[in-house]
Amino acid sequence: MSITPVSRKAFAVSAECPESGRSYGITVDPLPDGTLRLVWAFMIDRAKARREGFASQHVHGSVVFDDNYNGCPYCGARGFYICSGCGAMVCYKGESVVTCPACGRQAGTRDSDEFDLKGGGY
Ligand SMILES: [Zn+2]
Ligand SMILES: [Zn+2]
Repeated sequence: MSITPVSRKAFAVSAECPESGRSYGITVDPLPDGTLRLVWAFMIDRAKARREGFASQHVHGSVVFDDNYNGCPYCGARGFYICSGCGAMVCYKGESVVTCPACGRQAGTRDSDEFDLKGGGY
């Protein structure tokens, strides 16, 4: 498997995996039109993520998955949602009710307008 090279604008965000209870990082490379391209997910530990400021990065806008995007390193999910309570990115596999592992907020996924995030890259 190859990793798509990223531009110098690339940054990393942290995401939460409810199945494993662990965090992971996602490399995000913004495209010239502002679309956020998710390139690669990788394991991190939560303390390190915080130290490196991943958790303070929030993604907004439309998102596409790179062809080489590998999905959550723990559960393999290739979708995610943004928690409306704390802004965390959380693995999403099509559940109708989700519980954010970061803040415990429960939400029906139909309430969210962020759900176009799931498309692409499959
Ligand atoms: Zn996961
Ligand atoms: Zn949350």
